[in-house]
Amino acid sequence: MRTIDDFDFKNKKALIRVDFNVPLDENLNVTDTTRIKAAKPTIDKVLKDGGSCVLMSHLGRPKGKEEKFSLRHIVSEVSTILGVAVKFAEDCIGASAENAVDALQHGEVLLLENLRFHDEEKSGDLAFSEQLSKLGDIYVNDAFGTAHRAHASTTIVAQFFKDKKCFGSLLAKEIESIQKVLHESEKPVTAVLGGAKVSSKIGIIKNILDKVDHIIIGGGMTYTFIKAQGGKIGDSICEDDKQQLALDILKEAEEKGVKVHLPIDVVAADAFDDSANTQVVDVDKIPDGWQGLDAGPKTNVGFSFVIAQSKTILWNGPLGVFEMPRFAKGTIELGNAIADATADGAFSLVGGGDSVAAVKQFGFDTKVSYVSTGGGAMLESLEGKTLPGIEAILN
Ligand code: AMP
Repeated sequence: MRTIDDFDFKNKKALIRVDFNVPLDENLNVTDTTRIKAAKPTIDKVLKDGGSCVLMSHLGRPKGKEEKFSLRHIVSEVSTILGVAVKFAEDCIGASAENAVDALQHGEVLLLENLRFHDEEKSGDLAFSEQLSKLGDIYVNDAFGTAHRAHASTTIVAQFFKDKKCFGSLLAKEIESIQKVLHESEKPVTAVLGGAKVSSKIGIIKNILDKVDHIIIGGGMTYTFIKAQGGKIGDSICEDDKQQLALDILKEAEEKGVKVHLPIDVVAADAFDDSANTQVVDVDKIPDGWQGLDAGPKTNVGFSFVIAQSKTILWNGPLGVFEMPRFAKGTIELGNAIADATADGAFSLVGGGDSVAAVKQFGFDTKVSYVSTGGGAMLESLEGKTLPGIEAILN
């Protein structure tokens, strides 16, 4: 796996695909700079070597050229974070981009206009990719969040760089952490799968059954499994058409020697509301009119016990409706258990879908080994799919 550390960028122009798809407020100010900060190590390395950086990214979902999606709005924020005055090119291809690149001196940074102002970016157009390729000597992909898309800047452009292409440090870290969990894991390996629906996790479950020792199932997914086993789930969320699938998963897990841990008790509420009446009940005896919204106390003790013995932990999805404080306890207790296990030497990876929101909200992001930045890309990796953006660098 080639990374930026395998190249000397002295006197070279690095064409770097970054993920600067950041949220902006109504005054077009950046409200969350996480993604810009995440790209800094790669940019710093190129500049330190004595090279220059041509940064390309998308922002939002523009239909053609829409001023509110111009990357011009983030130039000053990027300059502040990098500590370098960032230049801006009015377009990502053509004369304005090429002239700006030609004028770029070593130690300088240029940001190109939004790639998605051209439909050819998303369609992965070859001619458009070739135009992009003229803007750098070495192609660096550091955008994990779009690595599952075969777009021009994430995938197709790579073919114009033969052996002059590599992963940026952020993307390399994402790949390494997936590798650590799925392929080079220290046993016992535990996957925690929570969140709302079985249907959105089924690909992950199927892929990891060969790789893990324990699967903890929580959150809204629980009830499809419990109902399929004949339990009473009251008004809890359930995907009736996935019951057979749930039974098939349990059978396959048993055949493969994977221990599946489901909640034994839950906090049930008489409405989907933070001020609802609540009671703790057995997971398979939820009265009609009540719905399970969080893991119960016995469940939390049991899950923490499994986590404490694990050496590798993958966490995807909350154990309850954590957005409502009264149903956040299961998620918080699980996060604490994972934090403790990590402090004791386990490797823990959080990612895929929306899990990162829960982890950040409760401050666990600094207490786990790695928090993935790429929701959909991480999900697809965990499902065992090869991401086109990664493949394009490896080829
Ligand atoms: P996901 O994006 O699939 O990881 O799902 C996350 C969502 O699942 C969160 O917004 C939670 O509120 C929701 N969730 C977790 N547990 C439950 C539950 N028992 N009932 C309904 N929704 C839940």
